[in-house]
Amino acid sequence: MEKSLFFDYAAMVIEIVLLGSMLLKRMTNGKLNRAFILMVSAALLTDTMDILAVSYDRSPGLFITEKMIFHTLYLLMRAFTSFFCLSYFIMITDTWFKALKNTFNKLKIFLPITIAAIAMTVNLFTHHTFYISATGEYVRGPMFFMLYIVNGYYAAYAFLKIFNNRKMLGSLKVLSIYFGSFMMMCAAAIQFFIPNILIDMFANATGLLFLFIMIQRPEEITDSETGLLKMSAYDHDIVMSFNNKKPETIIMIQITNFTVLRDMLGYRNTVCIKKIVADNILQTLKKNKVHGDVYYTDSGNYRIKLEGKQASHADLVAEIINDQYKHPLKYNELHLNLIVCVCIAKIPDDIDNHKALIALGSDLKNNYTGNVLYASAINNRNKYNVMRDIDGILENAIANDQFEVYYQPIYSIKEKRFNSAEALIRLHTEKYGFISPELFIPVAEKSGSIHKIGQIVMEQVCEFIGSTEYAQLDLDYIEINLSPAQCMENDLAKNMIDIMDKNHVQPEQVNLEITESASGELQNSVMDNITALHNAGINFSLDDFGTGYSNMTRIAALPFRIIKLDKTFTKIDDNPNLIIVLENVIKMIKALNMKVVVEGIETKELVDIFSDMDCEYIQGYYYSKPLPKKEFIKFILSQKAG
Ligand code: C2E
Ligand code: MG
Ligand code: MG
Repeated sequence: MEKSLFFDYAAMVIEIVLLGSMLLKRMTNGKLNRAFILMVSAALLTDTMDILAVSYDRSPGLFITEKMIFHTLYLLMRAFTSFFCLSYFIMITDTWFKALKNTFNKLKIFLPITIAAIAMTVNLFTHHTFYISATGEYVRGPMFFMLYIVNGYYAAYAFLKIFNNRKMLGSLKVLSIYFGSFMMMCAAAIQFFIPNILIDMFANATGLLFLFIMIQRPEEITDSETGLLKMSAYDHDIVMSFNNKKPETIIMIQITNFTVLRDMLGYRNTVCIKKIVADNILQTLKKNKVHGDVYYTDSGNYRIKLEGKQASHADLVAEIINDQYKHPLKYNELHLNLIVCVCIAKIPDDIDNHKALIALGSDLKNNYTGNVLYASAINNRNKYNVMRDIDGILENAIANDQFEVYYQPIYSIKEKRFNSAEALIRLHTEKYGFISPELFIPVAEKSGSIHKIGQIVMEQVCEFIGSTEYAQLDLDYIEINLSPAQCMENDLAKNMIDIMDKNHVQPEQVNLEITESASGELQNSVMDNITALHNAGINFSLDDFGTGYSNMTRIAALPFRIIKLDKTFTKIDDNPNLIIVLENVIKMIKALNMKVVVEGIETKELVDIFSDMDCEYIQGYYYSKPLPKKEFIKFILSQKAG
């Protein structure tokens, strides 16, 4: 039976399509993509050598030297294809650093391929693996099986590697890899016993295609707009690093004014800016000969992951990137000021868990100084340890009733008395001490436990309002915070009204505080909740006014009774123009028939300034910090008496 090349041609087509689509999709960033490209390229080269060798076999002339060369190259490349496949699988498990740890580990990987390479070179003279007979025929030698042993060894190594890391990879990935590898092995066995069926490389190519679809999954790991790796890839890679206890240095880059730019310039222009920043990062790495994985992790966030010796360049790269945005970015006719925050985090030295790293990433802009930040300096160990255990802490706190509502008095300037208070949740745990709501509320929003927490707060507050102690305080209402996630809960209004009814609380005795982000979510459920609660007679306050980018039309359309100016408005000393802004903002709020509360007042001077500006209510440490219920009652009673 004559050797047929159809399978080899088909394999070539698959490999060219794979390579072409990866290059066209710019899937060249990231170790895994590069390892995949290397593996496909090796397979393509192997195919080419096979086609050349078999073509010479079929030609009428003897071509002994040519046949010797191309068969040697084919067999050698075939062994390299197995070696690159193993490299790729080690890359998937992110354990190359372990594989290179000591000489024994290195030998386990590199010795077989070295033996194969030496054997194939020596074979040119000894003909123990294969030779070309005097009649021009390709004949296998007694040592031919050795190449199968090398290929088989690499397959077994890869099998074990994947098996040992099966938990981390997940069953779908493991099954896909095993299925692809099984196809390749069956084909190799067929070819061993029936050498004229050249099915080996075809099976290899289909295996690669299968891996491409199931593992490489372009849409899932590559951001098509920037060409960088996606958030999902970042998440996966850092989980791997923590699990493997692999040291990495992460440079976090955040365009802190990204949302403003998007609102101002629109989607298309923002995509271009995202891409310019991505290209700048890649160029910076290239110019400085630094190799690392670059990710776009959404909303103007980029991450560079450097490992091994590359980590020593982290400071240089971070400084260059930080400096690049000290000057406006020229885009079309515009000069845009990108406010870029850059931070270096070493794992596991600075941060030893995945959640804490993500938390630090989303906390970046609060630490912005204009200089490169270091996680080691801004990192509050306790805070990040809390983040690691936060789900368990919250579950425990809910189960064991550990949440307590504190009350911060609010002073009415006109009435010269404390007329209301804000309910603020507090969590004290034995192990971690006080945990700030700023830390756990965002987590609770993501995990869904905010609904239970919201209910606990509502119950404690309503129970208080319904009590006889409360009646002596002469307070008009209590402000209760509602997070955006709570506002989206379908039966929020019903639950709240039920709790109020149970405790005989009148609707005007509570004021619900929502932030601009919640009022901005014009989702039906949010509007339905606001309308239902408003129809039941409950008033709303807009919290943290001035921290977002207020859409006044929307604010004017919602039933707010009170607007709470955020603490940032009290930083008058830093910015004298703020007075002008404030005077006009307050005037506007009053014209809309709403009242003004100013938060975060810590000094007498600020009380005077805001009284002069005709603010109705003042809340802040100047009067009192948030107090536990008993102390709050004492405080209000003493103030009344005084
Ligand atoms: P917020 O609603 O804007 O609450 C005001 C925050 O400012 C409180 O922080 C309060 O303690 C603090 N504060 C009050 N006066 C001063 C002052 O003079 N100076 C300074 N520097 N700070 C002052 P807290 O209690 O840590 O709460 C932080 C945020 O957590 C709240 O911001 C609110 O968004 C959220 N939160 C608190 N309790 C709850 C709750 O029961 N439910 C929900 N959904 N969110 C809550
Ligand atoms: Mg509030
Ligand atoms: Mg506030």
